Amino acid sequence: MDLTYTTDDEAFRLMVRSYLEQHLPADLQHKVLNHKRLSKDDLVRWHRIVAQQGWVGTGWPVEFGGTGWSPVQRHIWEEECAHAGTPPILPFGVNMVAPVIMAFGNAAQKAHYLPRILSCEDWWCQGYSEPGSGSDLASLKTRAERQGDNYIVNGQKTWTTLGQHADMIFCLVRTDSSGRKQEGISFLLIDMKSPGITVRPIITLDEDHEVNEVFFDNVSVPVHNLIGEENKGWTYAKYLLGHERTNIAAVGRAKREMVFLKRIALDQQKNGAPLLDDAVFAAKVASLEIELMALEVTVLRVISLDNAKRGPGPEASMLKIKGTEVQQALTELMLEAVGPYGLPFDPAFLEGSSEHSLAEDDDAAPLASYYFNYRKTSIYGGSNEIQKNIITQMILGL
Ligand SMILES: Cc1cc2nc3c(=O)[nH]c(=O)nc-3n(C[C@H](O)[C@H](O)[C@H](O)COP(=O)(O)OP(=O)(O)OC[C@H]3O[C@@H](n4cnc5c(N)ncnc54)[C@H](O)[C@@H]3O)c2cc1C
Repeated sequence: MDLTYTTDDEAFRLMVRSYLEQHLPADLQHKVLNHKRLSKDDLVRWHRIVAQQGWVGTGWPVEFGGTGWSPVQRHIWEEECAHAGTPPILPFGVNMVAPVIMAFGNAAQKAHYLPRILSCEDWWCQGYSEPGSGSDLASLKTRAERQGDNYIVNGQKTWTTLGQHADMIFCLVRTDSSGRKQEGISFLLIDMKSPGITVRPIITLDEDHEVNEVFFDNVSVPVHNLIGEENKGWTYAKYLLGHERTNIAAVGRAKREMVFLKRIALDQQKNGAPLLDDAVFAAKVASLEIELMALEVTVLRVISLDNAKRGPGPEASMLKIKGTEVQQALTELMLEAVGPYGLPFDPAFLEGSSEHSLAEDDDAAPLASYYFNYRKTSIYGGSNEIQKNIITQMILGL
C-alpha cells in the first residue's frame, strides 16, 4: 500500500487546478462557497463547460468518451473541484446509469445514450425507491407487463432526486412475481415525457424542492428500452449501487467546510474573545478535524487498493458512514457557532436573487437550511444502518 502522490500525480493536480482557475465561472463558485442553492441552469452550465474539456466521464473508459483517468487522478480532480467550489456533476447519468449501459446495454443503447449523458442533453433521475421499498428494495411493486413491443408500467417511485427536471428515468420494475423477489426485477429506461407519468414535489425540511414522487399510470415503454435480459435487473441494480457509493465520503468538500467553520468561529465572539478560542468549542472542532484526517487516510487506503485492481468492495460502506457523519457534524458545529444568526429563513438570498440576506450575517444566513438539508446524507445511498449491516457481514464476517 502506497499513500504518497507521485510527481506525475502532482503535475496532474497543477494542471486541473489551473483549468479550474480559468474555467469555473465566478458566480457559480460564489454560490457553492456560500451555501446557496443551485438551479438547473447552474448545474447544466457547469456540466457543459467540463464536457467541452472532455472531463465529464472521469470514471469512463476512453472508448466511450471518458478520460480513462486512474482512481488517484479521479480523486485529485474531485479534491480540486471541492477546493475550488465547483457545482457537482450530477451522478445519475454519468456515474449511475452510464456504467450499467456500458456493462449490460446493447450497441444501440450505448451509441444513443452515452454521448447524450456526456453532453448533458439528457438529464437522468433514479427510479429505485418506492413507498415501503427503500432498504428492502427487492420488495418493489411497480409492474411492467409485456404487451407486444411495449411494456405497460404501473406503480410509484419516491424520493426521486431532481426528477422534476429529468428527461429520462432509469427504473427497477417487477416483470415477474412468481419466484424469489430478486428474480423478477427488470431494468427499464423510461422517457419522462411519456403519457401517464406524473411528478409531484416532496418539500424537505429546508423547504427546498429536491425530491419527488413519480407516478406511472399505464405508461407505454418500448421493449428496446430494456437493459440486458428481462428479470435480471437485480444484478444490474447491485452493480449500479457499487458505483453510487464512489466519492460518497466527499472528503474534499469536508476539508473546505472545515476551513469555513474555523473562519466563522473566529468571527463570532464569546465572552469578548473569538469563539474558536473557547476551550469547549475548540475541542469539538479539533475532535472533528481528527475524524476528518482519519477519514482522508482511509479514503487514500481504499484508493490504493483500487489502484492495485482489487476494487473498493465493502470498504465503501465505511467511507459512506464516516463521510456522512463528518458532513453532518460540520453542519451542526456551523449552526452552533452562529447561533441565532442562522435562524432566519431567506429563500431569495438562498437562491441568489438578493445579494444580502435579511439577517445581519450573510455567512450565517444559509446555515440552518444547510443543516436541515444534510440530515439526508445518512439516509440516501443506502442508509448508514444498512451500511453497518454490510460491514458486519462482509468485513467482520458475523
Ligand atoms: C434526500 C434523498 C434523496 C433520495 N434520492 C433517491 C433517488 O433519487 N432515487 C431513489 O430511488 N431513491 C432515493 N432516495 C431513497 C433512499 O435510497 C431511501 O430513503 C433509503 O434507501 C432508505 O429507505 P426508506 O426511506 O424507505 O427507509 P426504510 O428502509 O423504511 O428504513 C427506515 C429506517 O429503518 C432502518 N432500517 C431498515 N432496514 C434495516 C435493517 N435491515 N437493519 C437495520 N436498520 C434498518 C433504516 O436505516 C432507516 O433508519 C433518496 C432519499 C433521500 C432522503
